[in-house]
Amino acid sequence: MSKVRVLPGPHSMDKKTILAIGAHPDDMDFGASGTVAKWVEEGAKAYYIIATDGSKGSSDPQMTSERLIKIRQEEQKKAGQILGLSDIFFLNHPDTELTADKILKEEIVKIIRTIKPTTVITMNPTFYYSAATEPGFVNHTDHRNIGLAVMDAVFPMARDRLTFPQHEAEGLTPWKVKELLLVNFTTPEYLVDISSSFNKKVEALRAHTSQFDDFDEVLQRITARSETFGKSKGYKHAENFTRIVLP
Ligand SMILES: [Zn+2]
Repeated sequence: MSKVRVLPGPHSMDKKTILAIGAHPDDMDFGASGTVAKWVEEGAKAYYIIATDGSKGSSDPQMTSERLIKIRQEEQKKAGQILGLSDIFFLNHPDTELTADKILKEEIVKIIRTIKPTTVITMNPTFYYSAATEPGFVNHTDHRNIGLAVMDAVFPMARDRLTFPQHEAEGLTPWKVKELLLVNFTTPEYLVDISSSFNKKVEALRAHTSQFDDFDEVLQRITARSETFGKSKGYKHAENFTRIVLP
């Protein structure tokens, strides 16, 4: 990882600072960008971490991993501008080879201790597959591993000063994240009204041009999902999470 820049801590104690952490460019835009954009509109600061380089995500026979890495980072930066992100940290681990190891956890802990988020959003490490529909769904190995690494980094690693004590010498102090949100595409739990930010979510996703042969199909899918989640609460569009409030 490139050196983590030293950024100011939370800008206000009563405002959210959000850190959304995905395995690939586009993961958080699918799962959480409506929520992120809405909270930024309300005054929050928001950051992304993208753990892998996205170098496997193309079936184009002319594409190389080197070109794809650059293209996908640019796409994610463009999406980040649409959402109003303050910064994006690219960790550049090889796509599809992510492991929830100490190296990855330390990288995440260091960023948590640097930007001091109140809210961390990531993927659900317990979601392995779905056989409920045909075709079914195997959750990508990187999605499971980023969820696990983030969960461990948030609790207890970032909290404990004797975990990665070398951070102290760099001026970083332990940090307690207040809430952890796991993207949940299945069972309605913690629904966030994204009616006001749904268009930003669509435009952020549209920025990932290399990933879609048919964006209209993607648009139909995300619209149907956000409308279905919204219905139970009377929202036009909603994103859904499993929410863990930490001690
Ligand atoms: Zn992904």
